[in-house]
Amino acid sequence: MQYWKKYSPEELASKIDNALKHNVDFSHDISLGYPASKLDGNVFYDNAPFLKDAPLLRAYVANPNHIGCHTLGESEHAFSGTHELEKEVLNVLAVDFFNCKPGNFDGYIATGGTEANIQALWVYRNHFVNNHDAKFSEIAIVASEDTHYSIPKGSNLLGIDYIITPVDFETRMIQKEVLFDLIKTAKSEGKKYFIAVSNMATTMFGSVDDPNLFVDVLQELDVDFKIHIDAAFGGFIYPFSKGNDEIGLNNPHISSITIDAHKMLQAPYGTGVFICKKGLIQNVLTKEAQYVNGMDLTLSGSRSGANAMAVWMILFSYGPHTWFEKISVILMRTQWLCDQLDMLRIGYYRHSKMNIVTMKSDGIPHEIEEEYDLVPETHDGNNKWYKVVIMDHVEVNHLEKLIDALKELKANQ
Ligand SMILES: *Cc1c(COP(=O)(O)O)cnc(C)c1O
Repeated sequence: MQYWKKYSPEELASKIDNALKHNVDFSHDISLGYPASKLDGNVFYDNAPFLKDAPLLRAYVANPNHIGCHTLGESEHAFSGTHELEKEVLNVLAVDFFNCKPGNFDGYIATGGTEANIQALWVYRNHFVNNHDAKFSEIAIVASEDTHYSIPKGSNLLGIDYIITPVDFETRMIQKEVLFDLIKTAKSEGKKYFIAVSNMATTMFGSVDDPNLFVDVLQELDVDFKIHIDAAFGGFIYPFSKGNDEIGLNNPHISSITIDAHKMLQAPYGTGVFICKKGLIQNVLTKEAQYVNGMDLTLSGSRSGANAMAVWMILFSYGPHTWFEKISVILMRTQWLCDQLDMLRIGYYRHSKMNIVTMKSDGIPHEIEEEYDLVPETHDGNNKWYKVVIMDHVEVNHLEKLIDALKELKANQ
């Protein structure tokens, strides 16, 4: 770990205050040109006594704008103090989590995984257009059927086709021959450039795609491609549960990653992280953005600096070891549930390094779904799966209630 440390509450507070000191202070400085201010004083009064002990709330009231991308070129000087904290977050994620060479990436904290995924697709679409003179009709996105719907959303927005690869029903894995045939057909129909999205844990199953499967097939068929990892859900758990892994930015074929801080990390909504290797993000430069200092390289415009600081504060309040302990407890609870389901002979899918258990719906009646707020794979009447996600608040006590209810059902059958 090069960047990730654990700080004491005092250190956290002093680093946040120091960052805010390097920003414009709308309460005291003369600042005439920005369409921005601190948060409304009637509601967010800045002399509230509890703010003294709450550095992050002071950051919310100060209301820094993190518009733009701060890993490349100039940025708005008014918020340079807190931009530094965002860069620290990106260093931790890119280098310490995903094995990128220090300094060899660009990125920003987007509104969420949806935006980060669309940003990736946008970067690659334009990369193929700018560098290979590709027509939109020659570019295709390829991903598994368990891929998050932000990918078809991006395909629609960007006007490029989406190839859905079926997976094996039990293992949720893409079969090589299936992928090969799909790409071969697409190639024969004129597709030359492929954007593969490889999941580091799908939303419904927690299944993890092998990015090297995409590499093998796309290389065998001799087509140009880029690979994006969607680690929106798994990014804060899989790299730790799996140990050092080849699914990272050290893999020369992987160019970008999405990681949501507002899922496993429990940061406020609006904290999806986009990271890509150097030399790519320029493909989405909007030259018309002249009033913002620096290059406009992001899908969103204005965005919350306080959110970036919340991610920073959570990460640095744990540090790697305490975070590993937290993940380990969650995985133990997940294993407990799986052991119980095994004893009850209820079928399920679970990736051994993930905290999602997706049960086959035939063992689970509708009342149980409702009472325990299980999430079905689909709401269209054809559902075959229900999932349990072992988040921080899901304790063995709660899982035990579900298991007891299932046992009772079995006994009465
Ligand atoms: C949640 C999720 C997304 C979308 O993230 P939002 O933050 O809801 O926009 C994308 N991909 C995966 C795998 C996810 O789990």
